[in-house]
Amino acid sequence: MIFTLTVISLLLLVLYVKELRKNHKMENDYNYINSRLLDIVNHEESNYILVPSDLNIVKETAENINFLLEKFYDRQIDYRRGQKTILQIFTNISHDLRTPITVLKGYIEMLYLQSQKTDLSPALRTTIEKLEHNSQDLVHSVNNLFNIAKIQSGDMILDIKKINLTQICHEILLEFYNLLEKENFRVEVHIKDKPLYANADADAISRILKNLIDNAIKYGSSGKFLGLSLYEKNSHIFIDIEDHGKGISETDKKYIFTRTYTVDRKKGNGLGLAISQGLASSMGGSISVFSIPRKKTVFTVRL
Ligand code: ADP
Repeated sequence: MIFTLTVISLLLLVLYVKELRKNHKMENDYNYINSRLLDIVNHEESNYILVPSDLNIVKETAENINFLLEKFYDRQIDYRRGQKTILQIFTNISHDLRTPITVLKGYIEMLYLQSQKTDLSPALRTTIEKLEHNSQDLVHSVNNLFNIAKIQSGDMILDIKKINLTQICHEILLEFYNLLEKENFRVEVHIKDKPLYANADADAISRILKNLIDNAIKYGSSGKFLGLSLYEKNSHIFIDIEDHGKGISETDKKYIFTRTYTVDRKKGNGLGLAISQGLASSMGGSISVFSIPRKKTVFTVRL
């Protein structure tokens, strides 16, 4: 009797140890699967999970995860292909629209200039003025569409070379001189005499600065202040555009660099900052914003 009980106990013990080992092995395998999944998620790499396990349940789980991953990668490829096609169509349409619209704007501009010298009925004068204003908006929007499509599809070719940022900043400010004066803005410029150079695309820098100054005037109008500072710090060059207008809330800050995000649809189409950020990052730089509403808003371009 005692012998039988001892044998049973021993058998149970062996079974228990075996089960314990199996559980331990299963836990290790699942830990490994989890860490591989985390790797794939965090590094966004197209990879699969290889589990050298002899446990059927673990093998099956890994196979099913791999099946899901394969489906996901296929969808990702389809999505990217679709996006590229849409962007290409977008680029082509905006490119085709650009020429006729620019020509149209030229004619309207001529008509407008002529109307200033001619005696016209007030109604006709107002119509021509509206035509002129709207044609400017139209050209601006089509150019924005064209640029964002090119940046997103990676087709924007930049001419990166050593450029004089001091000179560009002065030139851009000069372009805004009349508007700033008309809007009664106080302007503060902090640019040292010694020129600062950077490897960048001159047109892209101009476009970014114009957009930021344009926004500072448009959205910061209540503060009647524009600041521009150009400086070097920790081997980077920075350009700050500051205004003292209504500013940007913490919530809006998260979205303003996103395509089509605009707080006021009447004032813009929300592409300017997305284009500027895209251009800056194509040059290895970035744009950030700091804002204390109604006190101080600073957009910083880092190169
Ligand atoms: P748009 O001006 O065409 O709407 P932007 O991409 O240039 O597009 O700007 C996105 C949004 O960011 C604007 O609609 C505006 O709400 C906000 N914004 C940009 N610059 C400023 C600024 N200097 N002060 C306050 N808000 C700003």
